[in-house]
Amino acid sequence: MSNPALFSNLPINPSLLESVTSLGYLEMTAIQAESIPVMLEHKDLIAQAKTGSGKTAAFGIGILNKLNPAYFATQALVICPTRELADQVSNELRRLARAIPNIKILTLCGGTPMRPQIASLEHGAHIVVGTPGRLLDHIGRSSIRLSTIQTLVLDEADRMVDMGFYDDIVGIVAACSPRRQTLLFSATYPDDIRQASQGFLRDPVEIKVESQH
Ligand code: ADP
Ligand code: MG
Repeated sequence: MSNPALFSNLPINPSLLESVTSLGYLEMTAIQAESIPVMLEHKDLIAQAKTGSGKTAAFGIGILNKLNPAYFATQALVICPTRELADQVSNELRRLARAIPNIKILTLCGGTPMRPQIASLEHGAHIVVGTPGRLLDHIGRSSIRLSTIQTLVLDEADRMVDMGFYDDIVGIVAACSPRRQTLLFSATYPDDIRQASQGFLRDPVEIKVESQH
């Protein structure tokens, strides 16, 4: 590879680029350089790269570039295996959204009372990040509406399947708009995940990065 892949060469919104730059991100990691252009073309994606390779910012840029801040509906959903990971993803998304005014990001995980989450959902959010069980709980109570979802991210898909969340994910995906773009991010991509994801993704582009950078 000759030139470093710079965020400043991406055709993304200036305010999003401003956020990215303010975080000190200049060069894309390998998975970012390969996956972001695919996401910007609104294609479904399976992206595999090891832990610590910057997958959150990759899908975060994909989500935020197409988000319409003036449309106050849930436009993106990120499903994570654990509360800790959901909190980390929400934090990184908030950092990436810093220069874009009025983006609301809501985290919905188990282990906290339902009522405040339902109240927050009534106020609305552009992006929801959550764990499978609690998301399904909200779907069952009709406290969340996913028919306006444009981007669905399955983060750490391998761990979610290992933890037995497959059926929950099927239920959540069924509640999302069929017109969505679906992005699957994983550190590994074994055959069972390949099989499991077939019903969720439409002609996905597959990207695998062996090394970290
Ligand atoms: P993964 O999801 O692949 O395990 P993360 O998204 O958690 O990785 O990112 C790992 C770390 O790398 C985070 O601290 C993040 O802030 C940082 N990071 C991500 N992209 C870049 C970049 N292009 N330049 C510098 N640091 C980055
Ligand atoms: Mg990650």
